[in-house]
This record gives sequence, C-alpha cells and structure tokens, in this order.
Amino acid sequence: MAPPAETSANYQQQYNEFITNLTAYHQKRGTNFEPEPRVGNKHVDLLQLFKTVVERGGYDKVSDEKLAWRKMGQDFNLGTANLPALAFSLKSTYYKNLAAYEISTIHGKEPPPKEILEDVTAKGGGLLERTVENYRPASRRETNALGLEGSEASGDDGTPVRDLVGEETPGSGGRATRGLRQAPPQRVLFQPDTAPSRQRHNLLPPGSAPLPPRGASTSYNPSSNPDSFSHAVSNYEPRPQMPLTLRPVITPANNPSEFKRIRAAKEQLLNPLARPDPNQRIMLPGTGFDGPNIYVRCLLALKSGVQEEQDYALHHLVKISMERGDKYRFESFAGLAEALVDKILEVSSLFYDVTWQVVYPDDGKKRDWNTLDGLEGTPDILERIEKLTQKHVDDSVQPENFSDKMLQVVEAALTLRNMVMLEDNAHYVSEMRPLRDMLSIVLNLPNLEALVELKHYALDIVEQLTKYLHFSANDPLYLSLLAQLDSPDRGAVLTSLRAISRISMNLEDTNRLEGIPSTTLQRILDWTLLDDEDLVNSCLDFLYQYTAVLPNVSLMTHSIDLASLIAQLTRLLIYGAKETTRDLLLAPPTRRPPPSEIPPIPAPLLTALLALDEPERSSKWLRCLFEEDKDEAITQIALWQAYQARFAHAVDKMGRPLLPAAEFIKNVSTTFADKAAAQVQAGPVQKFIIKGIRIRDAPVDLTGRPYQKCQWTTPTPDGTGSRPCGGFFMEPAEMFEHIFSHHLRVPKTASPSPTPQPIGGEGTTETAPAEPKPAKTETEKFTNDEGTYRCLWPGCTKFRNPTFIRPAQLAAHIKIHLPPPSPPSDSLKHPSWVSPAMTQSFSFLSTAVDERGDAAGIPLTAVLVLRNLARNLRRVGREEEEREDEREAGGEGVDACADGAGS
Ligand SMILES: [Zn+2]
Ligand SMILES: [Zn+2]
Repeated sequence: MAPPAETSANYQQQYNEFITNLTAYHQKRGTNFEPEPRVGNKHVDLLQLFKTVVERGGYDKVSDEKLAWRKMGQDFNLGTANLPALAFSLKSTYYKNLAAYEISTIHGKEPPPKEILEDVTAKGGGLLERTVENYRPASRRETNALGLEGSEASGDDGTPVRDLVGEETPGSGGRATRGLRQAPPQRVLFQPDTAPSRQRHNLLPPGSAPLPPRGASTSYNPSSNPDSFSHAVSNYEPRPQMPLTLRPVITPANNPSEFKRIRAAKEQLLNPLARPDPNQRIMLPGTGFDGPNIYVRCLLALKSGVQEEQDYALHHLVKISMERGDKYRFESFAGLAEALVDKILEVSSLFYDVTWQVVYPDDGKKRDWNTLDGLEGTPDILERIEKLTQKHVDDSVQPENFSDKMLQVVEAALTLRNMVMLEDNAHYVSEMRPLRDMLSIVLNLPNLEALVELKHYALDIVEQLTKYLHFSANDPLYLSLLAQLDSPDRGAVLTSLRAISRISMNLEDTNRLEGIPSTTLQRILDWTLLDDEDLVNSCLDFLYQYTAVLPNVSLMTHSIDLASLIAQLTRLLIYGAKETTRDLLLAPPTRRPPPSEIPPIPAPLLTALLALDEPERSSKWLRCLFEEDKDEAITQIALWQAYQARFAHAVDKMGRPLLPAAEFIKNVSTTFADKAAAQVQAGPVQKFIIKGIRIRDAPVDLTGRPYQKCQWTTPTPDGTGSRPCGGFFMEPAEMFEHIFSHHLRVPKTASPSPTPQPIGGEGTTETAPAEPKPAKTETEKFTNDEGTYRCLWPGCTKFRNPTFIRPAQLAAHIKIHLPPPSPPSDSLKHPSWVSPAMTQSFSFLSTAVDERGDAAGIPLTAVLVLRNLARNLRRVGREEEEREDEREAGGEGVDACADGAGS
C-alpha cells in the first residue's frame, strides 16, 4: 500500500472518517463493503485509492485511459508479477467499494442499482451511462454456446478496437470454478513446419513492427491496434487464479431494507402486467454489451459478404490461425471452412470469366457449368477449367480493386493453410468435396507471379490432407498434383512430391499411385542425382511409396533405366556417411613358454666370455642366455650345472677360476638387479629355484643382438628320433657355412689361387652364395662336384629325398631357408616372449541416425526403396517367366493371347 502523503496523525483521522462514511453508505445501499480490501497480497488504502482516481478525473476517465490501471497498480506497489491481473483486481476493488460512492459524492448523481453495479463484474461500459434500461449484465453470457474452451474469456473483452483491454483481465472476474482448472501448458506460438520449402510462409512474429495496412499482396497485416488485438487473441487462455470475493447472503437480519427491496422485486416479476418490456433489455451497441468474441465476429464478418467486414475478418483470421493454430478448430465454428473455401474460389473470377458456386442437393439451386457439387465433388472440373476463357491480367501491375480481392483470397488461403496444420482440422476438411475442387482450381490457375503465393498455400494444404485421401488414377486433384511435378518451381515440386507420397498414408487403402507418366518418373529419378538433400529425400519418399506396388515396379522395368536407378540408390546408401575405424581383437596376446634346455654358447660369444674375469663373466653369460620374467623360474642346480659345463674345461686351460656355487647364485640376483631371487619351492620334493628369469629363445651377443638358430633336423644321440640342430649364428653366411660343411658335408678343396673364387667358379657364378665367407679367407672352398644330397630343413619339400645335384645348385636352395640377418638389439620389442594380440582394422561408414540411434535420412529411405525393388522385381520376373512359359506352351494363356505372341 502506498505510503500516505499527509502526516500520519492528520491522515489517520481523515482515513477513519472516510471509512466510517463509506461503511454507512454501503449499509444504506445494501451492498457489501470491505474496509481493508486486498489486492494480490497487499492491503489497499481505500482513501488513497479514491483520492488518486478522483484526481485523475474519476473511474470512467481512468478506465478510458490506456493502461492507466496498470500504472496505478505500479504506483500502489502491487508488484510487477502478473501486473495486468493485479491491475484488474485493483480496478475491481475500486468498482465494488468506491464506484457508487464516487457517483454520489463527486458527480452528485444517483448511482445505478447494485444489480448492475456491485453485483456484476467491473467489465463493461462507463459508470455514468449505466441505467437499468441500457445495461445488460455481462454474467448473462458466461456460458458460451460455441463449445470453444475458454473462448468466453476473450468474448468478454469486446472488440479489438477497445482501449481498455489492458486492464480488462477476462476470466478472472471472481469465477471460482476457473481457479480449479489445471494450469494450462505454456502457450506455444503455433509454428508451421519450417522445412526449407515452406520458409517463405513463415509469418512475422507477433510484436514485430507493423506493416503499412493493406498493401498489395502481403500475407499478413497487423491490426492498426495490434496491442489490444494480441490481447484478445492471447487471452484465450485462463489467467492465474484471483482472490475469491465472497458475497454474503442477504437476510432480514443482516440487511432488512435490502431484503425488503428484493422481495418486492420478486413479487413484481410474478405480476405479468408489471413485468418490464423485454425489448428494453436488448443488447444495443455502446450500452456495455461487448458483442461476440473475436472468433465469432470474424466468422460472421467473413460470411457477411461485405468487403470491409471481410477485410477485417481475414486480416484477423490470419493472425488467429497462426497464433492459435494449436486450439483453433473448424468443428467449433460451423461454416468457417466453407466460408474460407468460398472466398478462395473467388480467385477464379479474377483470371477467368467464371464465378464458381458451391451447390448442395437440398438448396434448390440450378446445376450449371459453374456450379460445384458440394456433396459429391466435381469430377470433370479439369475439363471445365479447360474451357474457361482467360482474362487479360498484367502480371506486374494490378489495379487496386484487383489486388484487394487477391489479398483477401491469399489471406483466406493462408488461414486455411495454418488451420489444417492441426491434424484435427486437416481430418475435418479432408471430407469436404468443395475443398478438393477448390484445390484443383487453384493449382490449375495460370502461371503468373501474382499466383505463386496462393499456389504454395494450396500445395501446403494438399500436403496436409493427402494422407486422409484416396485418389483414383483420374482424380482431378491427383492429376493437378502430378502436373505440379513439371513446375520449374523447386518449392512446388517438393511440396507436391511430399503430398503425393502421403496419399492414403493413414488409410487402410494401399497408395497405388497409378498413372504416373514415365517422363515424370524419369524426372524424379534424375532429381535423385542432384546435390539437394530435401529434394532427394522427397524423391526417395515418393519412390518408397511407389515401388511398394507391384504393377508400378513392373511398369518401371519397361519405362525407365532401372539399372541406373539401382546404382544411384546404392550410392545413396552411404549418403553423408562418416568413416570410422575400429580394431577387432582376433586373438589376445599370448606368452611363449621358455625353451626347456639352456642352449649352448655360440663359439664367438664363448671366446669373448672366456676373456673376462669373474664375476663379470658369469654375469654376462647370464645376460646373454637369460632374461627377466617374473612368472618364470629355473632351478639353481640346472643353472649351476650349465655354468660349469660351459666354462669348466676352458678354465683348466686359461686359468681363470669359476665362482663357487653360493657366490654364483648370489651373482644371479646381482646381475638381474634383484628382479631374480633364490627361493625354495615347497612341494613333495623341495626345489631350490631362481625365481624371476627365463631362458632366452635365442642367446644374444654382448651387445644384445640375438643369434639365429639352425633348424636343420639332426638325429637324436640315441638314433631313435630327430631334433633341431640348435646351433646359433649371428650372420646368415655363417649359418650357410655351417650347414654346408657340418650337415651336408660338402667336401672342400685347397685352392691354388690366392684370391678367393666364388663357389661354382666354373661358370655358374649366379648360383654361388654372394656373402663373403670366413672359409674363403682360408685358401679353401667347397667343391662343385655333383653328389647325392638331401635338405633336412624342417618343412622343406624340394630335396627331401636324396638328390644327385651340384653343390652350387644346392647352395641356391639352402639360402631360401636361411633366416634374415638378426635385427639390432635396440629394435627388439620387450618382452620378446609375448606375442602381441592379433587385431584387424575395420573401417565403417556410419550413416545418419535419429535421436534413438536408429537409421534415418536418405540412406534409410534408399535401402527401403531397394528392398521394395528386390521384393517386387522378383515377383515381376516370375510373372514374366510364367507368361513366357504360356507362350511356349502354344499361346493358350490369356496373357500370351493378349500379347499377340503368335510364333
Ligand atoms: Zn646346424
Ligand atoms: Zn630345403
């Protein structure tokens, strides 16, 4: 509540007097008085309120001023949340408690009876004009016969030209039931599908700068008073709950004078002679009667046939249909759809000498060439259009009269288009035959710039309706749609394609799509080659529907290049795909078991080791033959014995002593930096082991480079089996020398020549081993005398059996078995006994998916079309084979006869 302006003591006295006077006034008047009324959650000082309003010229003056009650609400600090509702509450507070008092004290007049003042809502005309004769309480219209939920809200609001709408918060006038309704969902402006082809239809957002009124061919003209109009439309929803005003029942005890008065009035009503003339209570303009709500007004104005009224109606219907498309239903407004169709039909009169008339069987009108059958439709509408005489219309400049009429038509079409975006509405009008005729008429209008917009609206309407429609092959609307596919307008093509694809989508009927000419089909196939996602999508949607029907596929095999279509569909399978690579695990990493025996030391390594002193020698030996592996172990005895066996005889010669056993074992741990440790393995027989090392697959030299193993099969010492030779060599040439001399025992001859000759020096140089051999440094070389040799390299099949061959030839063969030179030590992967996992890389092409991760978009439709083709082509093929068989069987089959296959 606003702080009092006067000093508190003085003001308090003034306030008390005022309230006392007011209480007495209301008692006398028989009305309820609230000395401390609440607005929102604040008490309002009635004296302050009265003074403020009177200062501004009184209730009527304030109410006439735009948004004045809101400003006052701000002055009274009612808060900013939901200010319109609070402003209305403040106004109501004044109205209930102070309005009559104002009339009596300020204007010096007799206030009207409370039945038309305090007892009714604050909505309505000014106080001073109110008399029993001209005022009709607003409460009489609370039940709205239109069945439009919430529409009474705007009905009370009056017409859009009123300025008071700001404060007039309808639906809040103390109607308790309103508050019980669930809060409505957030109002979402109706937004039509924003697919690219339709973007041009998007209207201006509400609140954008108003365009000049009624210019040529603008799809939307905001009201000259957009603010109040927006209110009328947006007030369609109930407002938040307002505090409930309780009115006490008048009894002889609490208000004897008023009770007497009511009683007298009732008695008077029972007396027919004393009853007032009912005509006196007629709803006259300017008497507080608001008129029908904006929806009904528009409907009636549209049907009136008066140009200005229709301008008004269409102008507002466009906006309503856009903003309230989520609720605005044809069902609730009988005749609206028909009136819109009639209005759109007027377009023909602008371009042809025709005035179409919709005629229903019962209305007794004469059938003529320009009448459309309202019930059955007009099957020959295309022929009739054909015969019309076209008027001359300048496509760039039109007279004012023409463009006004055209604008009305476009607005009607836009309204209809906006409304059918609501499925209920689309379903409702899909039954209307005149609508189908109208659409055929519009789609067949001349190709003029002036008609592009209208045709687009018509196509949008068709697109919304076709899913409820079933067309025969010669239906005028179907033919008109197919003709649109020849249009140079991409938007028209897109919408038509979509419309055609949706025919009978919601019905049990199969969408047969008969009678599509092969040129049109070929054009659709060509469009799939374009880099235009929308168009390709629409074409594929169409093809999906089309190829689902067997006769269509049969037709396609003859009329179009099916192979190139299939090739293109296949290409589209990866449309927009993103490539990703994924590795698939074929086998997990594996460990190789260590060799069972400690291998011998290759001779050069042994020489190097023997030159060292202990404990370095045993450390190096361990490093060359063993490696760390925490999961493996070796027995101490095996290790000690191997050490002894390798070095003992040499020590005798060279005098460098071996380590004692205990120190040797200790040195193992030192060598492997405590990764290996002497342990006692518990069990039936105790074992002393070194845990943490394993025998290398192949020994390495002092630099860590591994030796290669000779695989040659040799007999076991006992002669019962065979095993690999197991000798180790660093270079392939060394192994070759070893195999030739040790395994094959190719004889050597002393050469008289000081320069070494390649093997086979008698002229077969190309088969000689290229590698220089240590052997050659001596004056010795292998003979090339033919002998009987066999190759015992495992897996060899060529010389498995003894063969009579020259050694040079044999050398060429042996070289294919030799392992490649061993890699340098730093290229070895560690640990060497683990074979890495085997994986295989696959690359994937991921195509578009929807929000649930299912396939979507062009690739999905492409594959669906391919599936249709795969299914139906097989059936087509079978049918043709059957026909073929029948022909061969002597042309007895019906088809064969029809085909005229006489041979
Ligand atoms: Zn060997
Ligand atoms: Zn071999």
